[in-house]
Amino acid sequence: METFFRQAQVEFLAAITSLKQLDTWLQDHRSEHGLAMVGRSNVGKSSLINTMFGKKTAKVSNTPGRTQSINVFKFQESPESPVYYLYDLPGYGHAEVSKKMRKEWDLLLGCFFENLPPQVLLLNIQDARHPFQKNDQEFLSWLMNFPQVSCYLCLNKYDKLKKQKDRAGLEKILKTQIMQYPQYKLIFKVSAETQAGLAPLHQAITQFLEKENLA
Ligand code: GDP
Repeated sequence: METFFRQAQVEFLAAITSLKQLDTWLQDHRSEHGLAMVGRSNVGKSSLINTMFGKKTAKVSNTPGRTQSINVFKFQESPESPVYYLYDLPGYGHAEVSKKMRKEWDLLLGCFFENLPPQVLLLNIQDARHPFQKNDQEFLSWLMNFPQVSCYLCLNKYDKLKKQKDRAGLEKILKTQIMQYPQYKLIFKVSAETQAGLAPLHQAITQFLEKENLA
């Protein structure tokens, strides 16, 4: 089965936890291209990263309440191809985290999105069974403050929608919700578990990165 960027060489570069560190990083990487991934905790972001990159890139199941970090990786589809950056962003909406941690998330991610170059694509991962939860909606409203960010919606765990009735239910939710969130340029339904739907996502990300790389 085809796997996203399986041939890619992925290298962990940094775990960014402070504004100072982030500021320095973004200053030094203003013209770099890449992919950032964000979602509510437990939507399968780490599984998706691991499936996409074919390696144990992200650790599955982060412990809520731990110091939140932006994990930065460098990836290259093949030794001849351009270098891109992958930003594994800390999840939003952990019920367990304190107000202090939420504030830290707002500051760190605010700085990240404010300074993110437009050639970095944001992939918002949601659970296909429960899309547009309160936390997702809050995140999306907040994201409107950063209009230069290009965003694709990735509905993961689509394999869990086994009945036609459930899939039709999702389509109905999408129709009503999507109008409210013009940030989304494209929508994908995928499964990190079965790898269904990953090929079109791979293609769209590659196209985005290549187009931006030529610009
Ligand atoms: P994260 O907190 O968003 O990084 O989520 P994880 O990657 O740790 O996944 C949370 C749980 O969902 C784990 O038990 C995964 O095995 C499971 N999971 C992730 N993706 C899928 C999927 O596409 N389908 C199904 N059925 N389970 C998934």
